Amino acid sequence: MATTVDAQELAALRALSAAIGADPHLTQAAGGNTSLKAGDTLWIKASGKWLKDALTDDIMVPVAMGPLIEAVERRDPSADKPQAFAIDALNPRGLRPSIETTVHALMPQRVVLHVHCVETISLAVQADCEAEAGRRLQGIAWAYVPYRRPGLPLAQGIAERLRPGVDVLILGNHGLVVAAETVAEAERLLHRVRSLLARPARQTAAPDIAALTTLASGGGYRLPADVEAHAVALDPDSCRIAEAGSLYPDHVIFLGRGSVVARPGEQVADVAARLGANPVAILFPGAGVLMRGDASSGADAMQRCLADVTARVDIAARLNYLTAAENDELVNWDAEQYRQKLNAAG
Ligand SMILES: [Zn+2]
Repeated sequence: MATTVDAQELAALRALSAAIGADPHLTQAAGGNTSLKAGDTLWIKASGKWLKDALTDDIMVPVAMGPLIEAVERRDPSADKPQAFAIDALNPRGLRPSIETTVHALMPQRVVLHVHCVETISLAVQADCEAEAGRRLQGIAWAYVPYRRPGLPLAQGIAERLRPGVDVLILGNHGLVVAAETVAEAERLLHRVRSLLARPARQTAAPDIAALTTLASGGGYRLPADVEAHAVALDPDSCRIAEAGSLYPDHVIFLGRGSVVARPGEQVADVAARLGANPVAILFPGAGVLMRGDASSGADAMQRCLADVTARVDIAARLNYLTAAENDELVNWDAEQYRQKLNAAG
């Protein structure tokens, strides 16, 4: 069994992973993951690790690919716990493979990049995604995979849609997968697909920082880490889209179900009283966004992502939101892995 990874390719992948992780339009917090195959071994980003740290931290875990793929084919629940397939002898730090390891294992190409690209997500939440992406991706061997919960359900969804030669997947309400035989080819394909899917963001006025600072004072809330996060509250269409529900899994994991929008004249305390809880973020239409004081850096990254995604959605399109059951399975699912990811992000 070949387990020796090509050191040069691994170095190239780490550099690309760090670049992807540093681009908030490609990945946010611990989201997104990259992998490299060496024989039967899949080197995949560890759960809870951030791609942006790929050059300074050891973030890759070796996984026995054959047994994992067999578990997916058998619909064995163990495929939902990829740590069972980590190769302990090559994993002295006991890192856990990403929950999305099966996505990488199912692609036959040697290098796989999975990103939560805002250009892709903004299209992948539209009910017309498959048709619109088809128009934009002519000449590319791609497949559309309708939304499934990450882990075994998503792996099965991919297996149903995968055809020989496909090297690009658009995951409904989720993101993008590109695959190639080399890191350099995978990077080229990523940027090609991204530019083909790109749409301009609707522009907004500047946030009202003075009003937000007043609203935050004494309420246990603060300004978001990125000024870009405010746009979702400044554009009426973005605000309406956000208020209507949850659009993709990491939003639910880091921010909870949907988005909370303050009513006219409401203060932070009024919103909390109305909900009976303090939401991680509150949108104040026309002013901007406030984050709860203890919100994690992952929550900040996802709040900015919401602004970047909603600003690109076609306002005339019908949107697919996660159902109540899909929200529930994300909130309740996988204490061992996704919670760990959430904590690591804090
Ligand atoms: Zn993902």
